[in-house]
Amino acid sequence: MRKTILLASAILVVLSFGMPSFAQGPHRFQPGFNLFTKQQDVQLGEESAAQVRKQMTVINDPVLTAYVNRVGKRLVTSQEATESGFPFSFEVVADPSINAFALPGGHMFINSGLLKAVDNEAQLAGVMGHEMSHVILRHGTNQASKANLIQLPAALAEQMAGKDSMMGRLAQLGIGLGSNSVLLKFSRNAESQADLMGSHLMAEGGYDPMEMAHFFNKLGSPGKGMVGNVAQFMSDHPNPGNRERAIEQEARLLPQRAYDYQSGDFKRMKGVVAKIHEPAPKATQQPTQQSQQ
Ligand SMILES: [Zn+2]
Repeated sequence: MRKTILLASAILVVLSFGMPSFAQGPHRFQPGFNLFTKQQDVQLGEESAAQVRKQMTVINDPVLTAYVNRVGKRLVTSQEATESGFPFSFEVVADPSINAFALPGGHMFINSGLLKAVDNEAQLAGVMGHEMSHVILRHGTNQASKANLIQLPAALAEQMAGKDSMMGRLAQLGIGLGSNSVLLKFSRNAESQADLMGSHLMAEGGYDPMEMAHFFNKLGSPGKGMVGNVAQFMSDHPNPGNRERAIEQEARLLPQRAYDYQSGDFKRMKGVVAKIHEPAPKATQQPTQQSQQ
């Protein structure tokens, strides 16, 4: 009898408060439905990256390139990035808007405006980890698959059999890098997943995941040091709601680590990027702002 009462009380407690916290670990996410193979993600990314390099100004500065690659390498060694098998790469482009984007398969482009806006290396790692998570979870081709269920299988099969470029074939279905592209603008659910997985990548690289939350908070709060530049990132990566709190809760579920990693070159990077005068954003230079309607 007493056992029954105890059991009933325990069930009531679980029902009232959810599962006890000691039973929880960090979230585990898997890529959703996809008509592309991972190899096709990589091919699409390669072709798209070539187009981006024609339309935007890639900054070939040894300090900046080495810096973003050093931070990227820390994130790439995380378990989830390694298991994805995607070949990540990191390039800096001259663009004043506070943004970065990663193409399917792992090519990432980081705006000089973002490098100017971050307060510390962990904040940059936060944006990069978030972008990498979209790649790992294949959000771009997942969305393209869901939006083109009928036409895409035949288009992909024809592309593989023929000599068409992947981008050319997909452009016929209206899939490209334009504004509101399904490849680069994500759902709130995808944003939430990228925030949480991004926090794992950061933590494993030695970066405090809370710095991602702090930076998103800064971008979402005009007046907090955001002088003039539009935080394009928040438009491409909308707040899924309670962003900071969700990242904080996830960080608490991660194994305890010392978050003290710095590449040591943050100040040097800041000195170099401060001297870059970006061209004004033009429709032809910012693929995420091109009109596709
Ligand atoms: Zn995002």
